Order: sequence, then structure tokens, then C-alpha cells
Amino acid sequence: LEKKFPVYGTFGKLFGTKSHVNAVTDVSFRLYEGETYGLVGESGSGKSTTGRTILGLTPATSGQVIYQDQDLMKISKNEFRKFRKDIQLVFQDPFSSLNPRKRIGHILEEPLIIHKIGNQTEREEQVYSILKIVGLQPEHYFRYPHEFSGGQRQRLGLARALIMNPKIIICDEPVSALDVSIQSQILNILKQLQEDLKLTLLFITHDISVVRYISDRIGIMYLGKIVEEALTDDLFSEPLHPYTQALFSAVPNFTRNRLKERIILKGEIPSPLSPPTGCVFHTRCPMAIERCKVEVPAFREVQANHCVACHLI
Ligand code: SF4
Ligand code: MG
Repeated sequence: LEKKFPVYGTFGKLFGTKSHVNAVTDVSFRLYEGETYGLVGESGSGKSTTGRTILGLTPATSGQVIYQDQDLMKISKNEFRKFRKDIQLVFQDPFSSLNPRKRIGHILEEPLIIHKIGNQTEREEQVYSILKIVGLQPEHYFRYPHEFSGGQRQRLGLARALIMNPKIIICDEPVSALDVSIQSQILNILKQLQEDLKLTLLFITHDISVVRYISDRIGIMYLGKIVEEALTDDLFSEPLHPYTQALFSAVPNFTRNRLKERIILKGEIPSPLSPPTGCVFHTRCPMAIERCKVEVPAFREVQANHCVACHLI
């Protein structure tokens, strides 16, 4: 894998965020150039916080975000701005952040003006070309945000991320609010964009089918930790962690083929403010043993490029 993609960023040990509501404890992963890394977990697992912390939107108490040999958490605000445009964010509903009084063309052009990129004509050309890339029409340039449907708004969200010509896009549940048919349109645009523009994607979602479709590699998060990580095909042919198995067993077709029955987890996901001792999953794990309550399982490579944190594996 190292050979296939140059290392792009290492998002190491991002943890214990300042805001107590989002206590991501210990997340480490690498993002390789040109790949899509899917970060999966239930709500409250810390996926969004991880994405936001990479961008400096949610401050972390400690950790590293290494991008192009720089620790983004240590550099000055000014230096950070230079890298910040390389990493863009697309989230669930871009509508809330689109100024309702401005025309789309203007909204898309704004970041270019702020960063003093190109002259008026060049900027307009750039906006028209991005509209085309995301499957919108030239006449959309003059429309207002409320005139767009849910799917079109997400195309706008993508357009706005793309206008700065980023290298990495962090997509936080970008299709969760959309109908299934619209979801696949947006996912296909993302896939195409990635190929054409050689983008690197961090794709955050709770949806197993979506992440399977879009990702090259997947990290499964539970309560602020990545408990399993593998290439997509390996993960789906052999999910190893009991939590991953439970998640996958809830997907109907998957259950029929791979796992004999649906694994129902008892209880709710515990509060990230007071995570369980030992293995964070022990309060809900159907396979937990005494050791799990006291000893944190090491996250280690058990097969080539397949890492898992569990005492039984
Ligand atoms: Fe379950 Fe123990 Fe493995 Fe944690 S370490 S996943 S509690 S068996
Ligand atoms: Mg979230």
C-alpha cells in the first residue's frame, strides 16, 4: 500500500478535544494520495469531530495533523491558511451555509476574490467550468440557493469545495439527507471527480453500503477510536472486530452471504465523556471476557494492511 500511494497526511493521535461534548480520544490514520478513506461509525463515535479537527475547526488539546511534512496544529495561522485551501469540507446540508441573498455565481466566485485568484473574466470562467463539472447548467450561475433541489444543493456544495482546486476533500455525511437515487448520482460524481482531478477523499458516514461503494480503505470508529482498518474488499470479505461484524450484520444482503445472523448489540453507545475502561466496546460486546474490562487492546496489524484492536484476534 505504501508503494501504491505516497503518504499524504498522517492524522496522528488527535485527541481529547477542548469542547467536552466532542471527546474524541485517540484517532490515528493515514491518508494516501488519490485514495478514498471511509470513516464509519454511529453518531457520537467522533467521526465528524475528527474531520473538523483536521481543518482546525474543532480545536484539539493534543495531537498532530501532518500534511506535506508540516504539522498543521503547530504552524501559525498565516501558514495554516496556505494549506487550508488544499483541504476542503463538504457536509450534509450545504444549504444552511449558502447566503440566500446571493446568486450562485457570486457565492462560488467569492473565495477566489478573497484569495485574489485570477481576474474577473478568469474567475467567471472558473465558476462556469466548475458548474459543468458537477453537472449543473450555465444558467444556474444566476439563480439563488432556494431555487435548488436537495441533490442540486449538494452539487453546489461540491462546486464550492472544488472552486479552490483542493487536493483533499473531507466529505461529512454528504449524501445522508438525500433520496437513494439522488445519493448514487452524487456518489458517482464524486468518484468521477476523484479520477479526473486526482483528488484524495476522507469520506465520513454511518452508512455501510455508501462507504463500501465509495472507499478504497475503511476505518471503523467506535467511541473515539478506530477499532478496525482495512482495504474495503478485505474488510467486507472478513470483518474481524466484533463491532464491525455487528455493524455489517445489520445490512440485509451482507447477513445472508457472510454472517449467519444479525448481531443485535445490547444497550446504547456510552457517553464519550466517560468511556468504559479497558476495551471501549466491552459494555456491548457479545464476546467480551474479563480481560476486556481492564486492558485496552492494542491496535495492530493482524493481516497485511488489516489492523484491529481486540484481545481475541
Ligand atoms: Fe470485545 Fe474484548 Fe475484543 Fe473488545 S477486546 S472487542 S470487548 S472481545
Ligand atoms: Mg457527524
